[in-house]
Amino acid sequence: MTVSQLYRLPCDCGREFLVTSIQAGEVLTCGCGRAREVPTLRALKKLPLSDLAPGPGARTRRWTALQGAIFNLGLVVALISLAAIAFFGWQRSKLDLRKPGLQDEEMLARVMELTPSQAWSAWVAVRDRELADRYTPAYLQARRVDRKMARIIWVSAILTVLGLGGIAAALAMNRD
Ligand SMILES: [Zn+2]
Repeated sequence: MTVSQLYRLPCDCGREFLVTSIQAGEVLTCGCGRAREVPTLRALKKLPLSDLAPGPGARTRRWTALQGAIFNLGLVVALISLAAIAFFGWQRSKLDLRKPGLQDEEMLARVMELTPSQAWSAWVAVRDRELADRYTPAYLQARRVDRKMARIIWVSAILTVLGLGGIAAALAMNRD
């Protein structure tokens, strides 16, 4: 395990960055808004040393712009997809997917009462119907919507994992 030395990199405003050699080439943003590039290892060694002990505390204080962007993006993606999971999960719970059994029994009882010629003309009426006119029962429509929502929830779950992964990656960048 290598412990890198902290160097004091001054900003034009008078503040200082504490940087390590592994940050060479990185662009840091000061509190004053100025961007400062961490010099190469050779130039870095000419900078005054910090008497602060290098450690996670010294390094976690400064985030690079990329790190911040990844963290924010991950957070936004995770929050939106969690909200989507909650919303569509709630919507799905309100859907009635049960096939109405009573209706079928009633229909069957009615069919049993038909004479053969009545049954035949009923069948002809159904047979001659345009396909576009066919009625989709509510429970079948609900099941279709339910499948769509299930797909959205799956995609949201994957996005949540990716978002959390982005947050974890941004946080991991603070360690060496
Ligand atoms: Zn500054």
